[in-house]
This record gives sequence, C-alpha cells and structure tokens, in this order.
Amino acid sequence: MELNVIRNTDPEIAKLVEEELSRQQNTIELIASENFTSEAVMAAAGTVLTNKYAEGKPYKRFYNGCEIVDKIESLAQERVKKLFGVQHANVQPHSGAQANMAVFLYVLKPGDKILGMDLSNGGHLSHGSPVNFSGMYFDVVSYGVNENGYIDYDDVEKIAIENKPKLIIAGASNYPRIIDFKRFRQIADKVGAFLLADIAHIAALVATGLHPSPVGYAHFITTTTHKTLRGPRGGVIMCDDEHALGIDKAVFPGTQGGPLEHIIAAKAVAFGEALKPEFKEYAQQVINNAKTLAQTLIDNGLDVVSGGTDNHLLTLDLRKVGKTGKDVANLLEEVHITANKNTVPNDPQSPFVTSGVRLGTAAVTTRGFTEEDMKIVGEIISNVVKYSDDETIFEKSKRMALALCEKYPLYSKGEKLRTI
Ligand SMILES: *Cc1c(COP(=O)(O)O)cnc(C)c1O
Repeated sequence: MELNVIRNTDPEIAKLVEEELSRQQNTIELIASENFTSEAVMAAAGTVLTNKYAEGKPYKRFYNGCEIVDKIESLAQERVKKLFGVQHANVQPHSGAQANMAVFLYVLKPGDKILGMDLSNGGHLSHGSPVNFSGMYFDVVSYGVNENGYIDYDDVEKIAIENKPKLIIAGASNYPRIIDFKRFRQIADKVGAFLLADIAHIAALVATGLHPSPVGYAHFITTTTHKTLRGPRGGVIMCDDEHALGIDKAVFPGTQGGPLEHIIAAKAVAFGEALKPEFKEYAQQVINNAKTLAQTLIDNGLDVVSGGTDNHLLTLDLRKVGKTGKDVANLLEEVHITANKNTVPNDPQSPFVTSGVRLGTAAVTTRGFTEEDMKIVGEIISNVVKYSDDETIFEKSKRMALALCEKYPLYSKGEKLRTI
C-alpha cells in the first residue's frame, strides 16, 4: 500500500523497508518485547494525522483546528479506560520510558528515593539504572529475585522499611512469574510510598484477565502499547481521577511537546482490537506457547530461570552448558531465530556477555504459531545450544526454522496480517 508511494519518490528507503519485511518474514521472532501490529494499526499510524499539532489535551488545546483529533484522542482514552477498568488515562506518552518519566516528575523531586527492580534481575532501565535519568536524578535502591528466580516479597518489604522510598516500582522487562501487586501495595502503604505498576510487558495479559490487575492497588499504571498489547510504539499512563490533572501536566508541558495524533489513532485501533473477545484467545495462546516452549527446553535437559513461566516469556539459563547468552543469541540468528541475550539471577558474566537468552511468544503467536510449532522451536533451540558444532544438525535446524516461517506468511502474503 504505502510502500508503492514511497517507491515512487524514495526508492532507496522503499528498498530497505522491503528488506526489513523480508527479514521479518524469514525470522522466528522470539524477542519478548516485539510483536506484529495489524494492518489497521499500521495504516492508522501512516495517516494525515501526523500533520497536526495538538499541544494540550482533548478540548483544551493550545492550537486551533483540533476538533477532529480531539475526538480521536478521546476515543483512545475511552477505549483504554474500558480495557483496563481505570478512571483516567493519558495516551500521549511517546514511549514506555516517557510514561515513567512523567510519573516520576509528578511524584518526585530530584534526590528522592525510589525502589525498583534491579536491571540485571529483570527490571527496566527507567526503573533506576545509573545510565538512565531515573538513576541519575533519584536516589535508587533496588530489589531482585531469589535463587529460584522469584521476587522475595519479604525481602522487598525489608528493603522498603530500611530505606523509606517515596516511590516503589512493581514491574519488569524480564520476569516470567505472576507479580503480586496487592502485596506491593501493602508494602507501599507500610512505608508511605506511592506504587507505580509498570505493565509494559504483561499489558495484554492484564487486559484480558490472564494476569492479576494492578488496578485498585497501584497509584499509577504505565504501559507500552507495542509489546503484548500489539499496538504502535508508544506509552500510556493510567491513574485515579485525583491524580489526573497532575499526571496530564507532567506529560505536557512537563516532559513532552506535541502529541503524536497519528500514533494515538493507531493506539485507539489497537485498544479496539484488544477489547474484542478474540484478543483474549490470543493472550491465552501466548501463554500456552510460552509454557510449551519452556517445557520443551526442560525436556531437552536445559535450564529455564524459575523452572518455567506464567506469562509470555522465559529465560534460558546457560550456566550449566557452559555457553554465554551472547554466543547463543548469535547462533540462533544464524538459524533464523531472533532473541536477545539476557542476564540470569546472579549472573557470573557481564551484561554484555550474560549467561541467558530471553525468549518471548507474543510475536510468533500473532503469526499463528501453536503449541505444536513451539515444540519444534524448542527442539531447534535445544539443538543449537547442545550441538552447535555439528554442521548437519545446524543445517537441519535452519531448514526447520525456515519451514515454520513459510508456514505462517507475514503481511504481504498472510491472510490475517496483510499490509504492504
Ligand atoms: C519496554 C519497557 C519500558 C520502555 O518502553 P520504551 O517504549 O522502549 O521506552 C518500560 N518499562 C518496562 C518494564 C519495559 O519492559
């Protein structure tokens, strides 16, 4: 569709977009934070709405001519409020990190204390990493996971009582188990802290009731829209009405300028899709696929952090087999599987090398993969880890991966996902 238009004016970029489509087509995408949007979501992101400046919020703008984008942004707000059952939503954050930044700006002063999950234990950069603004402007204490890979809530409570943070962050980029938001709130109340639930990764599971919701427990909820939620790249902040004005001000003018109304329209389309009953089937299949992948790896004698998963992701622990996450992620790329290296709890390797590989099923499930396919994916990964020196097995793994890619065509050829 749009690609033809680009081809006519900028063949150089059009060709690269085509190459990227082909890369996505010929790859089994196991990066846990990625997904494939619907044709409608992608089309909405490529509309004339990109031309409009709309600083402010619906019906309270600093520019004229916002009547239509007001309606679009209101629809996005109403849909996401319904999806999660919240009182207020700001759909303007350009990304998950921007959403968190706005919450910090509203709740904290520079130098205030925050308690978040340690990056190497599964937390996100924006939860207090020293290389991120959150770690530079605030006094950070962190919690991790125990030897079994689970959050130890008694330990979180102990750290909170000792340090009295002003904000506690519950949420992760790499945690395969259920997060107990109720317990987090009890801890926050004990020390007089605000609770932020960052559900960037598990948003689709929360929206469909397949993971307990933080609504009613967290003072603020942030999420990305492009991970399990399958929308365009972006963020959302949700809260009760009492914090609505403060949060809105923290987004604009606090941390952002004009909202991306074309992306907000695409978010509205994605929220509409997520409100349909089929989306719950999708989310359930994502979990089933992750469980099947974890079990297949375990059946092949490999270790998985915490022994399995409750959600859409898992981490292969390579310490026992003496390989690094970096090496295995590179080997997987050679057999057409993309995944990222990731630290495991108490990782002896540096974050650039690591002893783990994070694997997620949100993207392949959108493509149509079922449990049977995940067993094959698990076999391929196990073969690559165990027999990487065996040329015959390696070549066979490549063929098996490509056969799965052929089985589930993307966009141009696919039935469900036709776009370009
Ligand atoms: C991905 C992620 C973010 C940041 O999202 P971006 O859109 O990349 O800024 C924030 N928090 C968590 C827990 C995440 O996993």
